[in-house]
Amino acid sequence: MNVETKKINIVCPTCKKEVGIDIPSFLVSEAQDGILKIQIPQEKCCFHSFMIFIDKAFRVRGYQIAELEFNFKIKKIEPEDSTFLSFDINEMISALGFDIAAMILRAILVGNPILFMRTFDLNDNVNKTLKFLQEIGSDDIAITTRAIEQKELGEKALEKSNPLVYAILFRAILRSPFKDKIKTALEATLLRETTDIPDRQGQIAFLRHELVKISRIVNELFTMLKSTPFIYEEDLPEVLQKKFNYKINRKQADGIKEILAYRHGDKIASKIKSKTIDYML
Ligand SMILES: [Zn+2]
Repeated sequence: MNVETKKINIVCPTCKKEVGIDIPSFLVSEAQDGILKIQIPQEKCCFHSFMIFIDKAFRVRGYQIAELEFNFKIKKIEPEDSTFLSFDINEMISALGFDIAAMILRAILVGNPILFMRTFDLNDNVNKTLKFLQEIGSDDIAITTRAIEQKELGEKALEKSNPLVYAILFRAILRSPFKDKIKTALEATLLRETTDIPDRQGQIAFLRHELVKISRIVNELFTMLKSTPFIYEEDLPEVLQKKFNYKINRKQADGIKEILAYRHGDKIASKIKSKTIDYML
């Protein structure tokens, strides 16, 4: 691979182990707001996976511990088996990184495009991921995803669609519709449940079904909240269970609230209030 890189030292935020990694210069210069986010997978540095933020001067500006450590054995694929049909959820998670796969499900749930930079995609993982994601899409859940070339970055039309742009090989997020840290326990659980399904078609059908369901619940919650003064955040799992027969825990309910806020605005989402904040007032 012929690409100009710069070596930087990174330190695991959990165990403080230090390791040097090569960062391609063009990724740093193309990153949104001058900050490149790179997902460090397990075993690249230590047993932890985490995200690093690098500025234009190749300085590490921050770390983010992965919300969810995900231990699964990467299945060894033989080259002759390396087809589109063997590229299932496990392959997608190992190609993209677990947190990124969760973030991609979030982008689907809020309806933003997911773009993959094709540069140096040696294993054809971009096309395989595109095919997998496109198969999940249906009339009930539109999924906009495609591969882009480096020169498209920063184009007005691309910026306007507010996409998630990911360079698979470098595990680098070049731009994201999510400015703040998002809580992806909802999507992480969904990914985990999907990995329990043995066959690719079953995984695709399950993801399609669940994503459509979550999407509908968010819409119905929106309609309900329009005529409700407020509900307590702590009661959200119970409300979802009673009204929509949907079983989730508090952590996952945070995701429902974030998706609601993203799709319908902070004003309606602020009707989901926290009891603790109430007591403090
Ligand atoms: Zn560590």
